Amino acid sequence: TPPEHIRNFCIIAHIDHGKSTLADRMLQLTGVVEERAMRAQYLDRMDIERERGITIKAQNVRLPWRLGDQDHVLHLIDTPGHVDFTYEVSRALEACEGAILLVDAAQGIEAQTLANLYLALEKDLHIIPVLNKIDLPAADPDKYSAELANIIGCQPSDVLRVSAKTGEGVSDLIDEVVRQVPAPVGDGDGPARALIFDSVYDTYRGVVTYIRVVDGKISPRERIKMMSTGATHELLEVGIISPEPKATKGLGVGEVGYLITGVKDVRQSKVGDTVTSERRGAPEPLAGYREPQPMVFSGLYPMDGSDYPDLREALDKLRLNDAALSYEPETSVALGFGFRCGFLGLLHLEITRDRLEREFGLELISTAPNVVYQVFLEDGTELVVTNPSDWPTGGKIAEVHEPISKVTVIAPSEFIGAIMELCQGKRGQLLGMDYLSEDRVELRYQLPLAEIIFDFFDSLKSRTRGYASLDYEESGEQASELVKVDILLQGEAVDAFSAIVHKDSAYSYGNRMATRLRELIPRQQFEVPIQAAIGSRIIARETIRAIRKDVLAKCYGGDISRKRKLLEKQKEGKKRMKTVGRVEVPQEAFVAALSTE
Ligand code: GDP
Ligand code: MG
Repeated sequence: TPPEHIRNFCIIAHIDHGKSTLADRMLQLTGVVEERAMRAQYLDRMDIERERGITIKAQNVRLPWRLGDQDHVLHLIDTPGHVDFTYEVSRALEACEGAILLVDAAQGIEAQTLANLYLALEKDLHIIPVLNKIDLPAADPDKYSAELANIIGCQPSDVLRVSAKTGEGVSDLIDEVVRQVPAPVGDGDGPARALIFDSVYDTYRGVVTYIRVVDGKISPRERIKMMSTGATHELLEVGIISPEPKATKGLGVGEVGYLITGVKDVRQSKVGDTVTSERRGAPEPLAGYREPQPMVFSGLYPMDGSDYPDLREALDKLRLNDAALSYEPETSVALGFGFRCGFLGLLHLEITRDRLEREFGLELISTAPNVVYQVFLEDGTELVVTNPSDWPTGGKIAEVHEPISKVTVIAPSEFIGAIMELCQGKRGQLLGMDYLSEDRVELRYQLPLAEIIFDFFDSLKSRTRGYASLDYEESGEQASELVKVDILLQGEAVDAFSAIVHKDSAYSYGNRMATRLRELIPRQQFEVPIQAAIGSRIIARETIRAIRKDVLAKCYGGDISRKRKLLEKQKEGKKRMKTVGRVEVPQEAFVAALSTE
């Protein structure tokens, strides 16, 4: 297809605003999926396959569309993985010239959508604002058209109105995509350059790499070269997805599709890298992506120690699909062998953990998350601390810097007071406030990142009855008075429970952990003191009293089978015990103590 008849676009939407449903209607209206084969959330079918261990994600789909008497090819590029990640979204945006900004006509725009919209605008994408769900009785399209027009600077009449559910307006929307989104521009005769915007590992086919061709042509007969490493590979297949993968004779300027090499090593296909041909390589790679910086760190440990190698393999595979994930081995006295993992944010952590458990069948414990601290010592040395156990001891710290972030909250204006109170309590500073419409407001705060990663989102949701949406981005660092709080069992520090906190919250953290552990750890034959300490200073103390009698004592003289059952039950319990000094702590206690609710 000549580039002038290609349109590449994506859909930016908040979760549940109808992105999948709109994609369904587009598949149907363009005839890509036949009526009888249609089922809801067609492109999401891969989730199910993924659970069975086959990972072919439909990252993009080719849609034919006729406008007037001209045939066009549209590529709908789904934002890979999880829409909530700015980093992931930015990869998809890089492969498009336009974006549909899809907003629920009964809800209005949400903070995360706003952030993604700004990203799209930064990349000079053409934006088509669309209100969805106009069939709903609660829809207020006039109010939200005005809101959207106000945000992106267009006329309210430019905002299209559709119902992805009934199909109303969707055909007009596709026409507008063809009319408004610019065609891709590239050098068709030049050396090949294609951007890798996603890649996944497939059990049957090996590494599947999704590309958008910028210049030249990727042909299945030629060997390709990855420009970042210089590694060359034979191509087994080049194809498009419409909606199943179909092999083609090659991909030209502006086209979006996939390629498969025989390579099994997941690290060979790096998202953001440029693919060129071996025979006639391009001199310069494409701009690619900014390397993502992990912002939040947490230890991930298998519940069952023998799963450690599986965890390593799972992380290797996930990393292919998620360039932002970093990890290195670490050991914990309490939890054994595991990995120190770096994430872009808390949501990233939660989703990664969830994927490891669901897709790889692992059971995991994650330690309390922390941010990256810069610690300046009195002797002039500077440390980067990503793990509380690396915190310098002995009072020679001169200054500590912690990352701060800019937070955007969008909520109904009745909650302004509650949101301000929450942010103030988290060391926040108000940067500004704007009314988006009569009764919806955008609040901007500066907050330490560490305050956001614990339970900020949950508190925000509960204070606003679920109506607030949140987005945040890093914005430098500040000096703060931070301390490390250790939790000791019988005088021994349990590394998994150490945390870096602001000095004003040290006492409440120590108290909370000590109380929780006293409730969670069963009584032993002897007394177990639980202490919270900053260095050698004890700031909180609880005691687990000793058990008076042996468990078996109450069966004394009783029925023998009952006694045996009790013994077996005890043995069961033993297997999942971790020993800290002389104290036996059930695995569940660690899990419960580290959970954030
Ligand atoms: P996504 O999370 O953005 O992919 O949203 P989905 O497409 O999964 O839609 C979320 C929910 O909204 C589903 O229950 C859909 O059936 C519903 N929905 C989507 N579009 C419409 C619409 O136009 N009208 C109505 N009434 N419901 C819709
Ligand atoms: Mg969806």
